[in-house]
Amino acid sequence: MTTLAILTAAGSGTRLGREIPKAFVDVGGVPMIALAARGLAASGVVDAVVITAPPGRSADMVAAVGPLSVPCDVVEGGATRQASVAAGLDRADAATDVVLVHDAARPLAPPALVERVVTAVRSGRSAVVPGLPVTDTIKRVVPDGGSPAAPGGESAQPVERVVDTLDRTALRAVQTPQGFDRELLQRAHAEGAARAAAEHLAATDDAGLVEALGVPVHMVRGDAAALKITTAHDLAVAELLLEGR
Ligand code: C5P
Repeated sequence: MTTLAILTAAGSGTRLGREIPKAFVDVGGVPMIALAARGLAASGVVDAVVITAPPGRSADMVAAVGPLSVPCDVVEGGATRQASVAAGLDRADAATDVVLVHDAARPLAPPALVERVVTAVRSGRSAVVPGLPVTDTIKRVVPDGGSPAAPGGESAQPVERVVDTLDRTALRAVQTPQGFDRELLQRAHAEGAARAAAEHLAATDDAGLVEALGVPVHMVRGDAAALKITTAHDLAVAELLLEGR
């Protein structure tokens, strides 16, 4: 009975505005990928890690991760996150009963969160995600033309029309790591494989593929420290969190 963690790191991270793929960007002087991998290993419930690297960057990924207390393998990712996870999942052998999928873009996910997810899977929930209540009011919108360019030079801005306001008490912001029974996750990826090639079709998380099978997905409490680093602002917040540790 072993737990394999797939650590997705094959994205370009263009919204961070750096020249290098996001997983190589330092947080507190350490590459994001190394922090994320160490967090998984420190949980004590992960037996091995497989990292998805951008094409042609596998050797750089090995170097960036450095020494780890559990075995670590690197595979080349695909065109979408879903395709990258599928490539990592190919490395799961029959001895692996639980698979975690975690984003390198969440390098400060605490080991206790990793343990919480794995414990829930091992207690009989075959698909488990961490989630947090949303604090903003969330509205659904549709495009509604654009405003004309301002005379002062500011370019035209898209304008949207609000369709409705969602009941936020029933909404959760979902994080990683997400945990699964290995056979269930393999079935979910096999059934959803046709979606993996195109960004606008691909699943943005693995639980979504399990939901598409009609299999229940359960939620445990997330952690604010597991924030996803997408923008320069997120990176600054992560630096501050790390300083406070
Ligand atoms: O792009 P986004 O921030 O949603 O990506 C989430 C995670 O998935 C990141 O850790 C990123 O490196 C990874 N990813 C991947 N393969 C892709 C695209 C994203 O492993 N093709």
